[in-house]
Amino acid sequence: MIPYGKHSVGEADIAAVVDVLQNQFLTQGEQVPKFEQALANYCQAEFAVAVNSGTSALHVACLALGVDEGDMVWTSPISFVASANCALYCGADIDFVDISPQSRNICPDKLAQKLQAAAAQNSLPKAIIVVHYAGESCDMETIKRLTQAYGICIIEDASHALGGQYQDKPIGCCAYSDIAITSFHPVKSITSAEGGALLTNSAHLHEQAVLFAKHGITRNAQQMEGPSDGPWYYQQIALGYNYRLSDLHAALGFSQLQQIDTFIAQRRAIAQRYSQALKGLPLQLPVDSGNSAWHLYSVQLTAHPRTAVFTQLQQAGIGVNVHYIPIHLQPYYRAMGFSVGQFPEAESFYQQALTLPIFPGLTEHDQDTVIAHLTDILR
Ligand SMILES: *Cc1c(COP(=O)(O)O)cnc(C)c1O
Repeated sequence: MIPYGKHSVGEADIAAVVDVLQNQFLTQGEQVPKFEQALANYCQAEFAVAVNSGTSALHVACLALGVDEGDMVWTSPISFVASANCALYCGADIDFVDISPQSRNICPDKLAQKLQAAAAQNSLPKAIIVVHYAGESCDMETIKRLTQAYGICIIEDASHALGGQYQDKPIGCCAYSDIAITSFHPVKSITSAEGGALLTNSAHLHEQAVLFAKHGITRNAQQMEGPSDGPWYYQQIALGYNYRLSDLHAALGFSQLQQIDTFIAQRRAIAQRYSQALKGLPLQLPVDSGNSAWHLYSVQLTAHPRTAVFTQLQQAGIGVNVHYIPIHLQPYYRAMGFSVGQFPEAESFYQQALTLPIFPGLTEHDQDTVIAHLTDILR
């Protein structure tokens, strides 16, 4: 079976983890700060905070921005459920902004309309979580311009996009956002097995993120109430969590980060090959800005029933997938009042979407197998 996504772990990665196991602290040692520094440098952001998953990073991002009960958060319906769940963890309400069918990202025009309506009803969101679907950046400059008049916070869910660029800067540099988060799940740009990180240019948000990721405990006298009892002293000043990344995971993440540009170049070459080979078929192909991290290569079937094509490819040993079932159509979200028809572009994208295998280790031979089978089925 050719999977739709797969990690690339090599000798250097293995050696880095073994070195930690044999010689270093397994957690709270030097590897996490080293990884955080390297990640901040790579993304050209001031601060990075490594945590144990992208989901934890989203939760911490919301907490750091003060998302609370009674607040509203907006995100894209075409994302993994974690992009929306994080608001619910904080007791906030969630709503969605429909996508643009070309970019599959939040549509700036729909955002503008929704903001106007919300402003009239006094129901503006506290934060908006934009998702760089498949690794292609959202129109951040426009999103920032539309939201800043209302003082709305912006979180970038860059789980798909580490290694990509926007306006010649690395995604994660937070030029137009308060916080960007990413994930190191094995199918993402780089992996730490499980893991994630927040990036920010704000010293205050960095401090808040560290606090919420580590039990709400501080050892910083400036954050404490009253005087310190002594050098052993700490205070819990908020309700935080244990979202720490271990040193084993950080060592793997650091080693992977040294290879990210090679991984992304391989993903870009695969995407280009697909776009070249599939262009005559009844498919809507993804747009290629040249800056995507190509987490997914997701096509739309414009003339064939998706289930039949999906099943035939699976039977041929090709691990196709679908990204994503719109979040608002999940039973948990329907029970909150969401229903079919609310976000029509997201829903029609979902009906046609098919994710083809893309990952750095995908051979040309295997890619040709995918192309040949898909061509056979569609012709
Ligand atoms: C993978 C992913 C997440 C969650 O990341 P985990 O590390 O698996 O918790 C969140 N949002 C998006 C868009 C993702 O693809």
